[in-house]
Amino acid sequence: YQSKPAAGRHFLQIPGPTNVPDRVLRAMDNPTMDHRGPDFGKLGASILAKVKQVFKTQSHVIIYPASGTGAWEAALVNTLSPGDRVLMSETGWFASLWREMAERLQLRPEFLQGDWRSGADPAAIEAYLRGDKGHEIKAVCVVHNETSTGCTSRIDEVRKAIDAAGHPALLLVDTISSLGSIDYRHDEWGVDVTVAGSQKGLMLPPGLSFNAVSAKALKASETAKLPRSFWDWKPMIAANATGFFPYTPATNMLYALDAAVDMLLEEGLDNVFHRHDRHAEATRRAVRAWGLEIQCDEPRHYSSSLTAVRVPEGNSANALRAAILEKFNMSLGNGLGQLNDRVFRIGHLGDFNDLALMGTLSGVEMGLRVAGVPHRPEGVRAAMDYLAGNA
Ligand code: PLP
Repeated sequence: YQSKPAAGRHFLQIPGPTNVPDRVLRAMDNPTMDHRGPDFGKLGASILAKVKQVFKTQSHVIIYPASGTGAWEAALVNTLSPGDRVLMSETGWFASLWREMAERLQLRPEFLQGDWRSGADPAAIEAYLRGDKGHEIKAVCVVHNETSTGCTSRIDEVRKAIDAAGHPALLLVDTISSLGSIDYRHDEWGVDVTVAGSQKGLMLPPGLSFNAVSAKALKASETAKLPRSFWDWKPMIAANATGFFPYTPATNMLYALDAAVDMLLEEGLDNVFHRHDRHAEATRRAVRAWGLEIQCDEPRHYSSSLTAVRVPEGNSANALRAAILEKFNMSLGNGLGQLNDRVFRIGHLGDFNDLALMGTLSGVEMGLRVAGVPHRPEGVRAAMDYLAGNA
């Protein structure tokens, strides 16, 4: 489906879907098996146990044959009832979409406004919850890594804020662009539902999504009244007990998941996070050396999986991305919603290393020149200095 023949490999540097490692592709390339047969039960049980390590949870992880949006819906419909108030933080485009979904599901989302330049504000969450004396708010929803802005919310601090307010609301967290890239701890941070997707830090193609579910969330699901069928946790958990699924699972994607989780665990999660932190820092140094501005203006919230870069006033981020695709065969992320044409997003997550980053940053620097965007041609050099100095 390439629009024109091109030698060499396309650089897929959007912040997900990310590049799928050969080992994962090879794992998918096995014959599809009988999903009701005995061998499948062994595979299912092994994967369901293994994947918990990535979420850092002992609780149940549910796997859906769906994109991340499905897992958002699953988190809401399994825990909440029509008319329930839910508190959400406007971190950017994805938080806004989750809120619209909540409205369509007849929940009553309340949005803590944000300027799309930082993560969720724990102090504002605490103050809002303190005001809810009757504990009508049933859930706090936060996007851990806002893929539209490159800002990461501090979930540990959000947890503390909820506790400080003495509020019983559930904590639902979207980790679609952070899981497997940025430190995340479902159990330790007292998260009730973690929502995740396959196509970013997990290095898989799009097509699987996840809910990690706390005991408190499971209890809430017993009385939650939103209609649910496909997304219902109950038959999933019942079938998963023996490694099976209530409906046809995405068998070959599960082979892929098995291989991808092995890769993450072999590298070691801390090393994986460190690798992402390092590439993010090198990218930010490049951006500053170009004389461009990072969309996230709160350094404590800098994302390690992507960097959104603002183009100078009067320039078009979309024209820049089009030039980079045309001349250098690299895809970068576009600006979403109010950031359309104002930012481009560099994905530096997943199956990625120093030279892949340098190729990416070289493509951006050459693109800035080709597209006539004012900049200093010093970004690649700054990133190389940082990487070589911290090899
Ligand atoms: N949440 C975040 C943070 C995302 O980055 C995305 C997709 O990029 C989604 C939700 C939606 O997931 P999907 O497109 O897989 O349905």
